[in-house]
Amino acid sequence: MKILEDRKINDGQIGKGNVLKVDSFLNHQIDTGFISELGKEFYRLFKGENITKILTIEASGIGVACLTAQYFNVPVVFAKKAPTVNIYADIYTAKVNSFTHKKEYEIYVSKQFINKDDNILIIDDFLAKGSALSALISLINDAGAKTVGAGIVIEKAFQEGGKIIRDMNVRVESLARIKEMSEEKGVVFCS
Ligand code: 5GP
Repeated sequence: MKILEDRKINDGQIGKGNVLKVDSFLNHQIDTGFISELGKEFYRLFKGENITKILTIEASGIGVACLTAQYFNVPVVFAKKAPTVNIYADIYTAKVNSFTHKKEYEIYVSKQFINKDDNILIIDDFLAKGSALSALISLINDAGAKTVGAGIVIEKAFQEGGKIIRDMNVRVESLARIKEMSEEKGVVFCS
């Protein structure tokens, strides 16, 4: 999506370990008008799919998921992170290997909020190695619901996540795809 490439990612800083910082509009401060435009684009892409719910993961997916959900007029459910989930009853759980924090953690969603009749659109800020998306898809499968697709703001196409998820026959729509990034070259987009 041109506005994302032109205006915003180029404001981003490249941190250690191939992490792009987009704190000025997405991950710390949220530019609601701009992110809402991204939500409109996700709506254009998925509006024919009878979406009943949007699923994301706390914390950085919540803003973009909510600003997308206003176009679909459906609720947002966010998977919560917990150090241990043994204490809870009636939840679906999955494991995520955090790309940015370099550790494994569990996420959970209450069984109350996803059920077999749901057509779910996953929304997240980044796709890197695909662990967060795989975990969300596994929660949806456990609930017997359907994953309609995934809307991603920024896909780092030089990492394997996009291929892994598309090989699962899940439709992935990324608004910007990064071919490579480094402090010397900056951010280079796929054409
Ligand atoms: P994955 O599970 O696909 O490896 O990574 C996806 C998750 O890690 C996203 O939910 C996002 O929060 C975080 N992430 C991955 N790469 C980046 C990055 O370059 N910048 C930021 N800000 N977050 C990232």
